[in-house]
Amino acid sequence: MNCSFMDGTVEQLFAEVKRTSEGKGCVTDEVMSALNFVFQASLLPALDLVDNKCVTHISSPNGRTVYQVIGSSGTPYTLCETVNFCCCPAYRYAVLKREDQMMCKHFLAMKLSEALGVCKQEEVTDKEMVSLLAQIG
Ligand SMILES: [Zn+2]
Repeated sequence: MNCSFMDGTVEQLFAEVKRTSEGKGCVTDEVMSALNFVFQASLLPALDLVDNKCVTHISSPNGRTVYQVIGSSGTPYTLCETVNFCCCPAYRYAVLKREDQMMCKHFLAMKLSEALGVCKQEEVTDKEMVSLLAQIG
């Protein structure tokens, strides 16, 4: 778990994305430059994923939810909103090892899509949810 992820500033920033995009589906220049400042190189690839509707919010009857992000090469990554973890190489190297990124583009795309309200919605059975959850470390 990356400590800086728990930083309230980042959560505030996503709250700001949510607040300012209300009904418009896009962020203001001010919020965009704040996002750029915080996430730097991961922002544009993440916004690409958001634009291409690569993020799906998956829920099951027992109320559990996960997100699935289809990466640029078509690989699906399963993410949980509250756990900053992704099984992609960028997460392992840039986030865990070098610590020069707070989160990978998939996790960032998920947080942005959620804040913007542009996630696709999908429902699975409780059993299918268990196997999805098993993919999250
Ligand atoms: Zn990732």
